[in-house]
Amino acid sequence: MPADILAVEDESAIRDMVRFALERHGYTVHGAATVREAREIMANQRINLAIVDWMLPGASGLEFVRTLRKEALYSNLPIIMLTARTEEHDITAGLDAGADDYITKPFSPREMHSRIKALLRRSLDFQSDTTVTRGPLVLDAAAHRLTADGVEVPLGHTEYKLLSFLMRHPDRVYSRSQLLDHVWGPGTFIEERTVDVHILRLRKSLKPFDAEGLLDTVRGAGYRLSVSP
Ligand code: CA
Repeated sequence: MPADILAVEDESAIRDMVRFALERHGYTVHGAATVREAREIMANQRINLAIVDWMLPGASGLEFVRTLRKEALYSNLPIIMLTARTEEHDITAGLDAGADDYITKPFSPREMHSRIKALLRRSLDFQSDTTVTRGPLVLDAAAHRLTADGVEVPLGHTEYKLLSFLMRHPDRVYSRSQLLDHVWGPGTFIEERTVDVHILRLRKSLKPFDAEGLLDTVRGAGYRLSVSP
């Protein structure tokens, strides 16, 4: 799958390694040392995936990701955070900011390639169907927007991905670990209770629209989006 990949990383050795790891698999890698350079590239080049280092000079990668998610053009861009931090709360902060996955340094070229392949495949899955309707909810993948009875429902990035997956696979129970695999990606070292946190946030967002009842908790099994009466 040829793709244009943006690598934002101030250490040139790591940028070179990313380039080496990916160009041999047919990807085009656009390297940037700073957020400003990244912006210049993005102004001229359509990007299919971004790898963003956490620690950048001047601006944090985390802030950059958070900003991108607020922009319509990039709200859906697959993003991998590169981090030397392995503490769980740091990783969670990265995912909360809107990153889809993370890779901790040091990493192997093979690991990086397999994460990118998986993320590109997942993002294609999410884009495959432009509109999905379940009950009062309409998910417009092209616009990255959810509406309930025609009114836009504000959702965080992870809540959007979670709901998008459940809406595409309704009336089926998914365990927490299955949801982690499908939504966060396989090999994500996130605790299963993270799923509960995002389900809770999702219900809170749907509540003003009387749509939170679509999300069932199936005791001892997991979660399900029900559309059948
Ligand atoms: Ca760095």
